[in-house]
Amino acid sequence: MVTIAVTAEGPEEPRVAVSPETVKKLTALGAKVRVQSGAGARSRFSDEALKAQGAEIAATAAETLAGADILLKVRRPSADEIKQLKSGAMVAAILDPYDRAGIEPLAGSGVNLFSMEFMPRISRAQSMDVLSSQANLAGYKAVVDAASLFGQALPMMMTAAGTVPAAKAFIMGVGVAGLQAIATARRMGAVVSATDVRPATKEQVQSLGAKFVAVEDEEFKQAQTAAGYAKPMSPEYQAKQAELVANHIKVQDIVITTALIPGRPAPKLVSAAMLAAMKPGSVIVDLAAERGGNVEGTVPGQAVEVSGVKIVGPINLAGSVPVNASSLYAKNLYAFLELFFDKKDKSFKVNWDDEIVKGTLVAKDGKIVHPSLAPQPA
Ligand code: NAD
Repeated sequence: MVTIAVTAEGPEEPRVAVSPETVKKLTALGAKVRVQSGAGARSRFSDEALKAQGAEIAATAAETLAGADILLKVRRPSADEIKQLKSGAMVAAILDPYDRAGIEPLAGSGVNLFSMEFMPRISRAQSMDVLSSQANLAGYKAVVDAASLFGQALPMMMTAAGTVPAAKAFIMGVGVAGLQAIATARRMGAVVSATDVRPATKEQVQSLGAKFVAVEDEEFKQAQTAAGYAKPMSPEYQAKQAELVANHIKVQDIVITTALIPGRPAPKLVSAAMLAAMKPGSVIVDLAAERGGNVEGTVPGQAVEVSGVKIVGPINLAGSVPVNASSLYAKNLYAFLELFFDKKDKSFKVNWDDEIVKGTLVAKDGKIVHPSLAPQPA
């Protein structure tokens, strides 16, 4: 029988890699699930709730890891945890694989490392896509946090004492997080507009009842890559975009920025001059903060005030709704592991030729094997 270990995360990470629901499902597949006592506490998954679904609760990390075939984590496990696994064991987590110095010592110990953020964006893998599940929650929470900081009401209210005007929200970047931010701001009663450089987003924005604002020139028509991501835009496009944004942002109350380009620093979309022209008391939540931010002046992990505008640069916003974030993340991991279980004889076997395996496998047999992590030629 395959043993799946789930150890507690560090103090900075409230999420956990398993939920009562996935313990039950993994057990039904034929695995034994062993969870370190307290690992689910910050997601309100008590030891008792996990145990009731079939988990074995171990007192320490060492006891959890002893003899395990698979280790599931949210963040990258420590070298000490990896050392306690047998060679050939499988590890699945958000590994931050581009940090080579952090990955190499783990790879060297001979475990098979799978990086969940490398999940291919194909329809078969949608249920395993941790970036999407977490970005959805981040987009939602960004609007809730902004509304709370704004200090004014969002919906229009007609009262006997007078009318409260609707707040204006502007969402920059309409990927998974941006779409959820639009939907949330609409539900809360704001007047919502949104921008992106990928033409496919126009219809998505409009179907959510928001106004689409963008420079729709020839370059815009070509801005989406075959993989569905945005391309870096030319300086000429950026200048036209900046002019449009400068005019639009002046009258906005809440701005949520989510714009990213894979493998690059976040594009700068809001300048200090634009901030100076905004209304004092406006709020910006910059979801691109971890990648340098879309806003001039964003400080990752902090809230700052520039020209009277509050700018929040959250890190791990999904982690601030840990119950939901852990439930969805655990389901992503379950869907991934389910690939490898034989439903009839309940055996576990990795198919190394599967596109999803090849896409996520970072290290095997002591070596880093992912093509995106090949050393660059000097
Ligand atoms: P992302 O986090 O990489 O970027 C967020 C958004 O920022 C994107 O919409 C991008 O176009 C936009 N952006 C980039 N540069 C910009 C600029 N200069 N100005 C304005 N906006 C800019 O995106 P994501 O949320 O990961 O989604 C990327 C794509 O992947 C989408 O098409 C999404 O539908 C698709 N997707 C597919 C799957 C799947 O099939 N499994 C899963 C998730 C997402």
